[in-house]
Amino acid sequence: MSHRIRIGFEVFPPKSGSSETFESSVATLAAVGDYVSVTYGASGSGRERSETAINALVAQGHANKIAAHLTASSQSKDQIDRLARDWKAKGIRRIVALRGDAPAVTGDEYPCAAALTEALSQIGGFNIAVACYPEGHPKSASKAAEMDHLKRKFDAGAREAITQFFFNIEDYLRFRDDCRAAGIHQPIIPGLLPIASLEGLHRFAAGCGAKVPGWLDARFAGLEDDPDTVRTLSVATTVSLSDRLIAEGVDHIHLYTLNRVRDALTIARALGITGTDTAVITQKEEAA
Ligand code: FAD
Repeated sequence: MSHRIRIGFEVFPPKSGSSETFESSVATLAAVGDYVSVTYGASGSGRERSETAINALVAQGHANKIAAHLTASSQSKDQIDRLARDWKAKGIRRIVALRGDAPAVTGDEYPCAAALTEALSQIGGFNIAVACYPEGHPKSASKAAEMDHLKRKFDAGAREAITQFFFNIEDYLRFRDDCRAAGIHQPIIPGLLPIASLEGLHRFAAGCGAKVPGWLDARFAGLEDDPDTVRTLSVATTVSLSDRLIAEGVDHIHLYTLNRVRDALTIARALGITGTDTAVITQKEEAA
């Protein structure tokens, strides 16, 4: 590997909002990764959990390593602006700006991620990432409309885009080429999802329009009662996909960790990323 590879780890807040285990897991990931991104709940209680988690991580001194996800739907512009200003005052410098999946835009909301990105750019001081979809967003009208939409997010001030998870490298490469052809030259960071269970993966993929290729089905078929093998195969699959992406010039991976910290660190280590802290994490220290 000739270029330096960076990794960002995505986690979700625990049910309690935060916990010692969660905080210590994030600390471990933060020592290895470029950033730890924290998802933002789609509903009121989910959002409260995310905000509790972020506040706890800020209190632990991790503000500079957090990438806080923020979804625009079902929240007024005023609420969003206040939250973003609060995060900025607390030292958070990265935001993943998203529309979210509310049933419909109801009131005084930012209607899409581009509008949210513009508002965050006006507040200033944030490195803003947005979402993109190599295999298409389920609700998007056409490939061209989706590319225009992504361009609007960059025009509004986004610095990079993180992809929805995918397993077909060719789809990612084609999408990256399409972005370049459309005049988007900012990083298109591949988002990789280790597989926790084949059934869960199919459910998740159906909801967000991602494809599950036949070779992946075949690899994980019949392992419902063998979680250890699923785990080992999942790490190996993610490392192999990462290696192929790196061979294609990718220098930054976003890992949807599902809070499986040990697996995330194993994947990072296999890519030569050990960070400042080569802590060995035991299973009971998982963030979930
Ligand atoms: P936009 O950029 O505004 O839209 C994306 C595309 O979908 C565009 O082509 C747009 O035209 C089309 N589109 C979106 N919604 C509609 C609609 N209702 N009708 C018609 N067209 C539509 N969700 C969370 O709740 N919390 C998170 O923390 C979170 N993190 C994510 C992180 C990443 C990296 C990714 C890829 C997704 C994440 N999501 C999260 C899911 C995201 O909120 C959904 O994919 C959502 O449907 C679109 O968000 P967006 O920011 O891409 O929206």
